Amino acid sequence: MAAKSLASCIFCKIIKGEIPSFKLVETDTILSFLDIGPLSKGHALIIPKYHAEKLHELPDEYLADVLPTAKKIALALNAENYNLLQNNGRIAHQEVDHVHFHVIPKPAPGDNEGLVIGWPVQKLTMDELKKLQEELLTKL
Ligand code: 5GP
Ligand code: ZN
Repeated sequence: MAAKSLASCIFCKIIKGEIPSFKLVETDTILSFLDIGPLSKGHALIIPKYHAEKLHELPDEYLADVLPTAKKIALALNAENYNLLQNNGRIAHQEVDHVHFHVIPKPAPGDNEGLVIGWPVQKLTMDELKKLQEELLTKL
């Protein structure tokens, strides 16, 4: 799959070297670099070298190096606690419309640094879960 680029995209510009970045790992299909607005020390981004706004629009081959790179970065950071984050769409907190994965160290329990997550658990019955599973299985 040929790489796709969008001239106006800030992350495509970083891939092309038109905007500087503090690079960490580069392969044929991904680039990783330090986030300019870190939530904690070592907050890094991994971006595919293909312009797609959201994950479901990205060809699979551009995903192959993402998790191995996230693991590499976590090891290099010596981070015992960390989050991987990938936002899709504005109300899901996506600000840059080029698929990207965050590696965000979580410094200490109770510390306000790092990713702060709301986890509003919804109550579903077993029947509702089963119905949902059946619906999804017809599409997977
Ligand atoms: P999102 O909210 O879209 O998931 O995250 C976008 C991330 O990209 C933010 O954490 C933001 O700090 C980072 N970011 C935006 N512009 C730049 C840039 O020009 N350089 C770097 N290194 N990071 C950027
Ligand atoms: Zn782009």
